Amino acid sequence: MTTTTTPQSAKNPQISIIGSLNIDFVTATPRCPGPGETLTATSLTVSAGGKGGNQAVACGRASFTSQTTQDVSVNMIGAVGANDPYYTTLLQPALQKSGVDTTSIEQSAVAQTGSASIIVEEAIGGENRILVVPGANHAGLLSSVGNILSALKNYPSTPDIVVLQGEIPRTTTLGLLEYFNDCSSGERAKVVFNPAPVFPEGIPLSALRGTAVLIMNETEVVQMARSIEGLPVGDVVEGDGLRPEELAPRFHERAGVEIVLITLGAKGVYFSTKTGRTGIVAGVKVAKVVDTTAAGDTFVGYFATAVARFLATGRSLGEFDDDIEGAVSKANAAAAMCVQRRGAMQSIPFAYDVE
Ligand code: ATP
Repeated sequence: MTTTTTPQSAKNPQISIIGSLNIDFVTATPRCPGPGETLTATSLTVSAGGKGGNQAVACGRASFTSQTTQDVSVNMIGAVGANDPYYTTLLQPALQKSGVDTTSIEQSAVAQTGSASIIVEEAIGGENRILVVPGANHAGLLSSVGNILSALKNYPSTPDIVVLQGEIPRTTTLGLLEYFNDCSSGERAKVVFNPAPVFPEGIPLSALRGTAVLIMNETEVVQMARSIEGLPVGDVVEGDGLRPEELAPRFHERAGVEIVLITLGAKGVYFSTKTGRTGIVAGVKVAKVVDTTAAGDTFVGYFATAVARFLATGRSLGEFDDDIEGAVSKANAAAAMCVQRRGAMQSIPFAYDVE
């Protein structure tokens, strides 16, 4: 394990992102080739990514209120391969430049750094198709809840918020949800959960119960709604979905989730709180969509950071109702900047650049 530090104030609220780190091989192409067809594409970019890493960078960049001031501390719990060059050349510099502490990232001698092959199809507005090889994201540290909790305990400060996604083993995710959502033995970090991608076996109600913030896109919300009813997750096709206002209450009523956010692409975000506040915050109109990769991750990171700042004032999440539209607006603005840039981590804006 390397020992590197990023200067951060001990008084800052603390966010720990527990998740995947990948190298993204992004090919931009006018259109996708059909079976057996070879096409000349526009470009290949190799860059740092993974939902965990992207969300860590988004939290880190969201916490820079000026070029020199970071008001939220962010650290990453993840794993990479020690025998390939991607961590030291790409991932670690990208995280550290974004104010993310990397001391708890395991460098595995036996697994490769995870990778994602992403095809960006220019003819359909930069929509992407992604193939993931999990590598170290499914081995070592991230396959053991106990080891992750030890890494958190060994870190100098305790997280106020943990951010989880769906790119590490399902058993680990369920164990972490159950641990952090259980307040019976004292207050633990609040969970911001972005079930992306939704595990094919779903997430049982018992693990989801008590989650602070659940952020899903239009596909994920349908799959998660099926999952908490004990139904197969399955695929989602156009027309399968119920409206957000019909789906969101199920997560409050059945699973006690405090805040449900459903991202609606260019349309913005539907929000719903356990205390009954609901609405849509419209997306920011952009002149040209270049690449939507990491738009959802940017949104998650910015929203999680807003929640961390709010909780640091000593108030509870139940009192967030008056602040929620502002937090969603800011996260929408950051995500709209992201879709106008190519790539994953590098397309996420710093807070001081977000209008
Ligand atoms: P991705 O997988 O591409 O990162 P996602 O499917 O998780 O994204 P989306 O709902 O597509 O999530 O987008 C997340 C947020 O990004 C939206 O709620 C919105 O704020 C912003 N966004 C996405 N697409 C656009 C767009 N075309 N114009 C403006 N904002 C956008």
